[in-house]
Amino acid sequence: MTLAIETSALTKRYGSTTALDGMDLAVPEGSIVGMIGPNGAGKTTTMRLLLDLIRPTSGTARVLGEDPRSGGPTLRRRIGFLPGELRLEGRVTGRAMLRHFERISGPVAPGRIDELADRFGLDLTRHVRKLSKGNKQKLGLVQAFMHSPPLLVLDEPTSGLDPLVQQEFLAMLREVRANGQTVFLSSHVLSEIEQVADTVAILRAGRIVTVSDVESLRLTAVRRVRLGVRGMDAAQLVTALAAVPHVSGIRVDAATGRAHLTVDGDIDPLIKAISHYEVTDLIAEEPDLEESVLGLYGTQEASHVD
Ligand code: ATP
Repeated sequence: MTLAIETSALTKRYGSTTALDGMDLAVPEGSIVGMIGPNGAGKTTTMRLLLDLIRPTSGTARVLGEDPRSGGPTLRRRIGFLPGELRLEGRVTGRAMLRHFERISGPVAPGRIDELADRFGLDLTRHVRKLSKGNKQKLGLVQAFMHSPPLLVLDEPTSGLDPLVQQEFLAMLREVRANGQTVFLSSHVLSEIEQVADTVAILRAGRIVTVSDVESLRLTAVRRVRLGVRGMDAAQLVTALAAVPHVSGIRVDAATGRAHLTVDGDIDPLIKAISHYEVTDLIAEEPDLEESVLGLYGTQEASHVD
């Protein structure tokens, strides 16, 4: 397996603050890897180190087989980068700005800029400084995607995008992956990572808490279940369900007689248990990745039940 990104004990300190603390991360070529974590976790620091915008205190990184410290403009051209804090000013149009970026990033296929702008619904004739935050973000994304780089490094790419544009963006990520390109993105919007990422690295206080594929995160996820059973009153239902492993937070709705409960992890014991009853209604909500992740962070929200 070839790695597009590989870090080993990568560390960045600012005085007494450790922004990144011994990160070991591997991003396989042709995959989408998401990095999530709360504010200050070290996501932006990681990306800036990979782009050689800052230098590590210790540890190493390899990006597309090269050390970012020595890769220079040649390596830089092979990476499409969207910075977290995009500052686009100036009295130039979006199109002029992209032409300027093209001179730095390397050639762009004819028609590619217009195709991307159309998909994002971005007007390239408007002056950059007059664009809304979301439209500036779209311009930043066009800039990152336009030269079809082998690696995309995207810091909070969906920030400021409306839901429809977010969906278009996710579709584009799937397309670039199908094209063999690699995507490394950061977010605290977990649902977007859940939809596209092959692997999720969860970062907290400069350290990787866990690296997991999305399917495994689902298995450890919290599910909310609504259940109706014929011929049992509320007390009987609560007693029966309370004995089932992984089930908690049982509440029976007085009006409907249905039980609402939480399954933390394996749902199979619940399915086996209720198979003995006449089930009139069963809804298991999509596992909430956010709750799983908050569980890994060790916060209270993970065990919160309505
Ligand atoms: P956010 O989601 O808020 O953007 P992040 O995960 O991207 O957060 P970083 O920006 O990487 O987090 O910051 C990690 C830590 O390093 C924070 O505690 C931050 O205050 C600190 N830090 C980052 N840059 C500097 C700097 N130039 N000088 C001092 N401390 C810094």
